Amino acid sequence: MINELKHELERILSCARKILKSSGTATEAGRAALQIERSATKLLGRDAQCICPECGYRFRGNGWDGIDAHWRAKHESVMTYSKAWPLIKAGVYRPSQRSPLDDLFTEE
Ligand SMILES: [Zn+2]
Repeated sequence: MINELKHELERILSCARKILKSSGTATEAGRAALQIERSATKLLGRDAQCICPECGYRFRGNGWDGIDAHWRAKHESVMTYSKAWPLIKAGVYRPSQRSPLDDLFTEE
């Protein structure tokens, strides 16, 4: 039963990544996909991928390498890099246009 659940989560995760890859987080669907991706990754106990929370860009290679240049070029107007980085690193950065789904799987 648990294995079925995990299998289902893997499926959801791969769907969410497909959406992210095609639309980034510019759309509401993309933002929801990012949140689902994060939640599913967490539930499956996987290492989080380094995905820009503002646009869905996926950093490849060594962890967050390149985030500073990426952020300064694209999102400095939303929040300065020095402010945003600690939040991104901690996984608590909220995209500037919040999605209504951001409490997904969060227990209150
Ligand atoms: Zn970005």
